[in-house]
Amino acid sequence: MDSQIEEIKNKLNVLDVISGYIKLTKTGINYRGVCPFHSEKSPSFFVSPGRQMWHCFGCGAGSSIFDFIMKIEGVEFGDALRILANKAGVELRQENPQLRTERARLYEICDLACKFFEKQLESSVIGKEAETYLLSRGITKDSIKKWRVGYSPETWNSLTDFLVSKGYKREEVIKAGLAIKKDNSNDSYDRFRGRIIFPVFDLNSAVVGFGGRVFKQQNETAKYINTPQTLLYDKSGILYGLNNAKLSVRKQNQCIVTEGYTDVIMCHQSGFENTVAASGTALTAQHLNILKRYSDNLVLAFDMDVAGDSATKRGINLAEEQGFNMRIIGSYGEAKEKSDPADIIKKDPKIWEESIGKAKSIMDYYFDSAFLQFDKTSSSGKKEIGRVVLPAIKRLQNKIEQSHWVQKISQMLGVNEEVITEEMEKIKVNNVIEEKAEGKEISFEKAPENQRKNLIEEKIISLILKNPDYINLILEDHYRLFSEKIGNFLKRLSEIVNLPQEKLKKEEEKKDFKNIFDDVITDDGEFKNFVAALALRGDASPEEDGEAEINLCLLHLKNIELKENLNSISEEIKRAELQNDQEKVNNLIGEFNKLIKEL
Ligand code: ZN
Repeated sequence: MDSQIEEIKNKLNVLDVISGYIKLTKTGINYRGVCPFHSEKSPSFFVSPGRQMWHCFGCGAGSSIFDFIMKIEGVEFGDALRILANKAGVELRQENPQLRTERARLYEICDLACKFFEKQLESSVIGKEAETYLLSRGITKDSIKKWRVGYSPETWNSLTDFLVSKGYKREEVIKAGLAIKKDNSNDSYDRFRGRIIFPVFDLNSAVVGFGGRVFKQQNETAKYINTPQTLLYDKSGILYGLNNAKLSVRKQNQCIVTEGYTDVIMCHQSGFENTVAASGTALTAQHLNILKRYSDNLVLAFDMDVAGDSATKRGINLAEEQGFNMRIIGSYGEAKEKSDPADIIKKDPKIWEESIGKAKSIMDYYFDSAFLQFDKTSSSGKKEIGRVVLPAIKRLQNKIEQSHWVQKISQMLGVNEEVITEEMEKIKVNNVIEEKAEGKEISFEKAPENQRKNLIEEKIISLILKNPDYINLILEDHYRLFSEKIGNFLKRLSEIVNLPQEKLKKEEEKKDFKNIFDDVITDDGEFKNFVAALALRGDASPEEDGEAEINLCLLHLKNIELKENLNSISEEIKRAELQNDQEKVNNLIGEFNKLIKEL
């Protein structure tokens, strides 16, 4: 096994593996990007091709490509090994049974099922009919192959029987979402019957789920059905087509989000390879976190009812809060009525290209839709338009922008601006992210960067307040890591604690630490209150190893300092590069690498 791990490591470059997930830019001999494991604005995630390592100065995560895959895919080591082996073209010999996790077997089942469906499309009579239908929709044979489109026969058990014959249990087929358990029995039947099958891939192009579409419309059946939530498939975290789109999204720094499988396939086929679909769900926070790794620019191309559909609006609000630039494709080309991107492209890809170019801002879209949908001359129409548009205006952070739209709506409705503002005041706008975070205390590992240092300092002080001896863990060399005030406080505290015993009246007094605050903090009431509040805080549990905690905190502070230094050096490198001072650039890069090694 070890030799296989080595083989995989030798065949893969850390840079290739990681840049499959994150946007990286070159800084000297290293690469940096925004960390996918904690939320940050300025990039502190580094990849060193020389050392074949990655490290985040923000959250301290880092190590080998295996750790990266485990973390980003949320999988165990065995699965990470399989993913990377696949990428490296290394066939895993003698698979360790312990590594053949349930997850791994589900992957195998999904892939086998996908092959089964592909074969049906290729060779069965009805499969061929399905193929003809796809071709008539404009999907080429090459696309069918690329996206592994298949057909599920109109039978109750043929897929399950096939998988059982390959050594998998019925139960596992159910767990993969491919069969449905019959009530009160151990029996089951195939979920997908008589449907065109679109396999859904994860970022590594492994099949994790399926979407099935009827192609001869029958009554009383849903047009689309999908794999339910399984160990591998979670629709709120999967974007259809991203495995094939990710490089193009990054290159063009733009992602087009459509609604359906055929939209994605037709877009890719016509050269719009930066297209994905949120299958059967509005954009979720998880989707957005994934997209954020590739681009900040979204073009939404799906039918939205701005007056209803709160899930869609929530998705848009989430994306705005996460700092995405968004545009919306409202109507396509000359035709004002809605039709699928796939149909437009079949008609003429040029129309689609123009539509992307003419995509509207969110605000324009809200305005246009509301005014199209409601009658602006009637009083009830005015009210409805206000209901759609005002919350969107209120969400705007920039007051100038906000006033621009207030003016506009006031003109369009013929209603006084003051009245609009007054109405807007009444609306309660919830910040979606805040809603989620409410009631949760932030641990400093997960805290936003600008707060992390403060939280670490607080933690250290509150631990020292519980046991004054801990002050001796803070050495001369550490003071500079703290903010000035805290550093000075700790220094003076240390001096007092370490006064010769006879000078401290009683040992008792040393224990009752709060008594010596007055000696340490003489002139700063606010700071005194701050320390007093920390002393009251009960966040160190009795069994907590305070010494280890403090050392860990110090390590975090060192990381923060290192990161600050690295940031300023990379700024200097940029400046030196602009001045064409090659010698300085080289010196700075040397310094930079020395710092990286300090980790
Ligand atoms: Zn990080």
